[in-house]
Amino acid sequence: MQILKFGGSSVATAAAIQQVASLVEKATQRGPAIVVVSALGGTTDTLISAGQQAAAGQESYRQVLQTIEQRHLDVAKELAPVTSQSGLLSRVKQECNDLETLCDSVFALGELSVRTLDRLMSFGELLSARLVAACLHARGLDHACHDSRELIRTNSSFGNALVDFQTTNRQIQTYVRNYPHAAYIVPGFIAADAQGATTTLGRGGSDYTAAIFAGALDAEVLEIWTDVSGMMTADPRLVRQARPIPRISYQEAMELSHFGAKVLYPPTIQPVRQRGIPLLIKNTFAPEDAGTRVEVAPPATGEVVRGLSSIGQVTLLRLEGGGMVGIPGFSMRLFAALAREKVNVILITQSSSEYSICVAVLTADAIRAKAAADDEFAFEIGTGKVDPLVVEADLAIVALVGEKMKDHPNVSGRLFNALGNNGINIRAIAQGSSEKNISVVVRAQDVRKAINVLHESFFEVQTKQVNLFVVGAGNVGGKLLEQLSRQRAYLLRHLRLQVRVVGVANSRRFAFAEQGLDLTNWRESLEQGDEGNLADFLQIIKTKNLRNTIFVDVTASGEVARCYPELLSRGAAVVACNKIAGSAELSYYQQLKRLSREFGAAFLFETNVGAGLPIIGTLNDLTRSGDEVYRIEAVLSGTLNFVFNHYDATVPFADVVRQAQTEGYTEPDPRLDLSGVDVARKILILAREAGQELEMSDIDNEAFLPASCMEGSVEDFYQEMARQEPHFQQLYREAADAGKQLRFVARYAEGTAAVGLQAVASDHDFYSLQGKDNAVLFYTSRYPEQPLVVKGAGAGADVTASGVFADIMRATRQ
Ligand code: ADP
Ligand code: ASP
Ligand code: MG
Repeated sequence: MQILKFGGSSVATAAAIQQVASLVEKATQRGPAIVVVSALGGTTDTLISAGQQAAAGQESYRQVLQTIEQRHLDVAKELAPVTSQSGLLSRVKQECNDLETLCDSVFALGELSVRTLDRLMSFGELLSARLVAACLHARGLDHACHDSRELIRTNSSFGNALVDFQTTNRQIQTYVRNYPHAAYIVPGFIAADAQGATTTLGRGGSDYTAAIFAGALDAEVLEIWTDVSGMMTADPRLVRQARPIPRISYQEAMELSHFGAKVLYPPTIQPVRQRGIPLLIKNTFAPEDAGTRVEVAPPATGEVVRGLSSIGQVTLLRLEGGGMVGIPGFSMRLFAALAREKVNVILITQSSSEYSICVAVLTADAIRAKAAADDEFAFEIGTGKVDPLVVEADLAIVALVGEKMKDHPNVSGRLFNALGNNGINIRAIAQGSSEKNISVVVRAQDVRKAINVLHESFFEVQTKQVNLFVVGAGNVGGKLLEQLSRQRAYLLRHLRLQVRVVGVANSRRFAFAEQGLDLTNWRESLEQGDEGNLADFLQIIKTKNLRNTIFVDVTASGEVARCYPELLSRGAAVVACNKIAGSAELSYYQQLKRLSREFGAAFLFETNVGAGLPIIGTLNDLTRSGDEVYRIEAVLSGTLNFVFNHYDATVPFADVVRQAQTEGYTEPDPRLDLSGVDVARKILILAREAGQELEMSDIDNEAFLPASCMEGSVEDFYQEMARQEPHFQQLYREAADAGKQLRFVARYAEGTAAVGLQAVASDHDFYSLQGKDNAVLFYTSRYPEQPLVVKGAGAGADVTASGVFADIMRATRQ
């Protein structure tokens, strides 16, 4: 005998039922089959809702019943040929009338007992069995349709009844022996107690009905036909990359289903496992897909973890108290109290000091559980030996399942790493000694992220997804997005990185796409995006809570620089070309560094100094490898270098500055460059990275611009500079007459730093710097006389963007 079970979505429409009928037909060519059917998808929920409305005295239950009836009549009309329709239609109507009568009495009584609810829910399966049978009849297949309530005997625990296997097995065996057919259609989910009252086997229980038949008849196979191609590595509604598990052990399948894999109702495994009956999970809508085979010993694969699952709506209960230490019986009393209240404990941890026991229960049970425990320990609570039960809600459990985990070290290490790197806090952990299951309790809002992170870590080693949020869509931002777009395919192929820009914002609006924005037309997306400010954008980052998030700041905004602590504390990396944070008050810079370490989230700002040149990275490499940097000399302003390379007193100084601005080498406000403030910030950042605790006010800035130039607007600045032309001419002549070149130089030595104009002779490293070049000389213990020199273009949107890009790549490796 083969047992085939078709779930709610497999029988949701007439077309789906036709597909079921052809699968049944095919199966019967191999031998007789029992076909267990669920209610038409969604019907059970609708029936419950009708019952609740009736009990609450709401007449709307009648409309709900009306839609149920109409849906079944419509399917019936499509399935049965016109000639034999009337019999089927009147049977459907008859069932619906009985259902209405039942709901009318619920309405009249204003009460819906669990017993009545079972009777009410049973109509879903009774109706669908009729429809499937009618379809097989129309195809001329020899079959019988039988009510499972006459075959499956349970106790009277309505809502989740326990099966009396002795009676059930006997009844099923006798029935099949006495009525040989090619196919038997039976409703899933429903059964009856010894008095004949309708019971149900728990939500999702049709799977179990099928397993009961399989066990009773020692079937060759149990096939669960559903809407996905097998039991998958994770819930496909949570993880897009989830894929079917080809073969899995009974034990693993049971663990996964216990911990939330809805595709299989947990009790289903037991009856087939006892007899070694293979269990297949197949897709009704893609029958050629292999699906999943559940068996005793599936062959080994390279994967250590077989699958992931999760349970939402979990609450932790903690029993604590100094009076518990060393006294036996506390745990036993806690569990007994919970058992009396029929509270199912999902997970248990106990600290080795025995000072606290922690159990996870479904949130729906939490209030009853707390009351039961507080009641049990009322005396100890009264005498202060034990504290009242501590309740922590809004949690979820994520479980790793796999029998091979016990043979592999570091599975939990990888789990902690993956979650920790993404700012996901673990509230409790449980690992059975058999190590088939490692479960962690996390905040409910982190569950999707946690499952995706773990899926990536254990099943997608080949690719890592990185989610970027870019703030600032100006010159540098634009170039960065262009470069990212060009490099996408390369990164995927060679570095196995799937880099997605999920959000882009400017100061007025933002665009967001969870699957990644199309970078070929991001400007249009931004233009059509939502209006909103930084706070709105941050809110999205927070609520989306995506794994491997990198926040990229390509603005020059102080407001943006102030939101890094929140991001780093959530485990998001921050990559900034914005210099404000690095050069803000020392305590802020130190706070960011600390948060980065504490939460394992990168904070990178290479482009703060020398655009794309590897200056901060080089300095970090030197100090981390034990070198001591005692002096830094640097030309750090591409703008000033450009200006002094082009200014020869023939064209006004102001015009040369304007040219630098037009060519995009200056800060948005060129006075930041000309005043030396920008260079001062850069040497401050270098000094801090070299380990010196300096404030901006400690940097000695010998300004060369007359103070009058710094007043008023940018336009006033240009006009005043024009008026001050003789000053600039004099600076130039003095240097030129001595055969020297003007450079704006930053210096750091012996714990102090200064910036200022300097005339350098022709043998100096800085003399022949071209265009907008920067140069940095590091004098260290290892490079005492001949400094380590980093030199090259130190300004420009393209090189800055490439420096930001390089930081993004570094952040992905953390
Ligand atoms: P049926 O109505 O056929 O009984 P269910 O809705 O009960 O189907 O179960 C199938 C659904 O279970 C899938 O559509 C999927 O969304 C969900 N599911 C959750 N976890 C898993 C998993 N690990 N593998 C496959 N499906 C899963
Ligand atoms: N129809 C029932 C439910 O929705 C049983 C099942 O589908 O397995 O819970
Ligand atoms: Mg199901």
